[in-house]
Amino acid sequence: MRILVTGGAGFLGSHLCERLLDEGNEVICLDNFYTGFKRNIAHLLPNPNFELMRHDVIDPFKVEVDQIYNLACPASPPHYQHNPIKTTKTSVMGAINSLGLAKRVKARVFQASTSEVYGDPRVHPQPEAYWGNVNPIGIRSCYDEGKRVAETLFFDYHRQNGVDIRIVRIFNTYGPRMNPDDGRVVSNFIVQALRGQDITIYGEGTQTRSFCYVDDLIEGFVRLMDQDKVTGPINIGNPGEFTMLELAEKVLAKVGGKSKLTFHPLPGDDPKQRQPDITLAKQHLDWQPTVSLDEGLDKTIAYFRELLQK
Ligand code: NAD
Ligand code: UDP
Repeated sequence: MRILVTGGAGFLGSHLCERLLDEGNEVICLDNFYTGFKRNIAHLLPNPNFELMRHDVIDPFKVEVDQIYNLACPASPPHYQHNPIKTTKTSVMGAINSLGLAKRVKARVFQASTSEVYGDPRVHPQPEAYWGNVNPIGIRSCYDEGKRVAETLFFDYHRQNGVDIRIVRIFNTYGPRMNPDDGRVVSNFIVQALRGQDITIYGEGTQTRSFCYVDDLIEGFVRLMDQDKVTGPINIGNPGEFTMLELAEKVLAKVGGKSKLTFHPLPGDDPKQRQPDITLAKQHLDWQPTVSLDEGLDKTIAYFRELLQK
């Protein structure tokens, strides 16, 4: 198949491009390098089945493809809040342009949605049937509401135009090729520990997240895309739930060194708890995570250790 991956030079996109190439597909990676890096895909450039397009998803694109994975969007809170209007435009126009292309060339189209559609959830763990608790006017809204509108557009193109859609709601994912400076908690804590800097806990560190290793996530993506029974939205994430204090202690125990925990104000609208209910993924995709946080952190620490030495 020929497959378009928007946001293909990002953390998740680069792993997805790699996986799709390994399966013998042709891959077109579309990216404007807003938060992605050439180094994430440099090893794929010599592959004759790989093509790179520098382009912004806000502007329409035309390529003949069988499948589209729409991942283009900054994902870390500091990055998506840096230019919030652009973030909403990227989600909304990127969805419209991906769906428009899918409609024209009759491709199956996949949306990288997010657990952020549940906002600061009042139902725990979060099943797909939960409609969420999202502030429409807060500092996270550009991302949360942008992703919610994208889901709406996917379902309206599906109902109105018969577009073949798949939607995954991704819960916090980590692994090699995360941007060391994008401010997400796993990369922050590891990089701080490796540099011997203090660990920055926001709030009291009692808020929780559930961390999925990237290889597990990509397996879930491909399973959803390559089956004909369900459109989603479907949660993909690791139900193992940890407080930020527990995460910091784990990272410190693994990296060693002299870093101390320091406490900083909690950013606005920061969700207090998050854990995926993955019943549907188990039932429809026969999917569940296989990599423990300990194992995944070891691999991620090894990646950052090497990156920081360069
Ligand atoms: P990332 O920032 O590493 O990757 C995003 C990629 O999209 C980058 O390469 C960036 O340059 C590109 N991009 C951004 N705006 C663009 C635009 N206007 N036009 C073209 N390209 C653009 O983030 P990631 O973690 O790889 O996230 C990928 C997708 O998965 C995003 O849509 C994100 O919202 C979603 N997601 C990720 C997580 C996670 O934990 N990693 C969780 C939920 C959802
Ligand atoms: N966080 C933290 N220290 C950091 C970065 C993040 O304590 O240096 C917290 C943040 O407030 C949030 C959690 O870790 O409660 C996860 O943050 P991240 O930005 O990784 O993801 P998201 O909030 O989008 O789930």
